[in-house]
Amino acid sequence: MSTIKNVALETATLVERDQKYLWHPYTQHKTAALPIAIAKGEGALLWDENGKEYIDAIASWWVNPYGHSNRFIADAIYKQLTTLEHVLFGGFTHEPAVLVAEKLMEILPKNQQKIFFSDNGSTAVEVAIKVALQYFFNKGEKRTTIIAFENAFHGDTFGAMAASGISFFVEAFEGMFIDVVRIPVPVKGHEQESYDALQNVINTKNCAAFIFEPLVLGAAGMVMYEPKSLEVLMQICKENQVFNIADEVMTGFGKTGRNFATDYVTNKPDMMCLSKALTGGTIPMAITTFTQDLYDAFYDDDINKALFHGHTFTANPTGCAAALASLTLLQTDEMQSNIVRIHDNHKVFEKRIKNHPKIVTTRILGTIIALEVVTDGAASYYGSLRNKLYDFFIANGVVLRPVGNIVYVLPPYVISDEQLQKVYQVIENALEIV
Ligand SMILES: *Cc1c(COP(=O)(O)O)cnc(C)c1O
Repeated sequence: MSTIKNVALETATLVERDQKYLWHPYTQHKTAALPIAIAKGEGALLWDENGKEYIDAIASWWVNPYGHSNRFIADAIYKQLTTLEHVLFGGFTHEPAVLVAEKLMEILPKNQQKIFFSDNGSTAVEVAIKVALQYFFNKGEKRTTIIAFENAFHGDTFGAMAASGISFFVEAFEGMFIDVVRIPVPVKGHEQESYDALQNVINTKNCAAFIFEPLVLGAAGMVMYEPKSLEVLMQICKENQVFNIADEVMTGFGKTGRNFATDYVTNKPDMMCLSKALTGGTIPMAITTFTQDLYDAFYDDDINKALFHGHTFTANPTGCAAALASLTLLQTDEMQSNIVRIHDNHKVFEKRIKNHPKIVTTRILGTIIALEVVTDGAASYYGSLRNKLYDFFIANGVVLRPVGNIVYVLPPYVISDEQLQKVYQVIENALEIV
């Protein structure tokens, strides 16, 4: 590199240097505002390079329940990094992976008996879909259709994208997907429609699995439906030997007020997809869990019946150490009471805000509150109302990313009451400017 370039680099801001080489997710760089350079995080707080403070009211895309720069998790990571940072998982194993499996078994539904590691929510979903399809292949049965909700989000890799129903995420790739049939979400007043659609798909297609976000569709804008509806849908699948795949990537680890959203129903999923909060927002890692029956369909003298899927960093010991520390934190009384405390705060705020003239509806589940803001037209995902709200929140030191006209709060569990009250206040103030 020439000396001149070095000088220029030294005087350029971090954001200018970012713009030179970096391509951000979900970003139209021509029209998007410049990113904010974050230099430090602690608890529910973030600070940018100029020292401005922000409350992270969405736990950095729902990954961070235990606070930024958490010492307990950091110490576990450091200890693991200086003991065994990584070893291939093909033909080898290690204590952190075994401990994570044992610890997860304490909180997973009892029918979940096997766990498979991967790297992120999308790969957790890929694995589940592949296992469902290969299960029937291994049994010599032709079942190739996957059922999913309208407006679902399951990730951005091809199988996960096929299952996702938010149009502009997948539009460019239509026609290149595995066979997915969509059914409506059983939101209030549309339950029967959803049940009928599911029964109809099962009657008319060779269905392998139904993949769903249990009780809350996150990326769709925290769309919620009742446990009793999920119970009916899962029961229909169960009666027809269609696998239930619970994508708990967002809802897992306490966000809905229980360890898993499917803890609210008595039917248990055949597979579960976990990621996001699994490592407390520190190291990318994901897990897909299975029943013994699923595992057994791959257990054979014939090598071709094995699951030929893996990732280079599968069960990375450092990631496992982070997951183990995170699961330990989740089970503490302190964290469990934080979850209840956030829920109670949301309830009080909901009471105060629900009759506001700018609010259409409100909904709460566990640590999640979503508010639908009045809009004159169809509010698009990244439309002008959304951007106006987003800019206002950022200007006022709160990280909130509305989905269209839906403003939701899903904070780290360690957020203080005072910080939470500030988030609510900024939302109320924002309603005055829209
Ligand atoms: C975020 C998310 C995914 C995808 O996870 P990535 O880690 O972004 O690949 C899948 N399913 C749900 C429900 C999610 O919220």
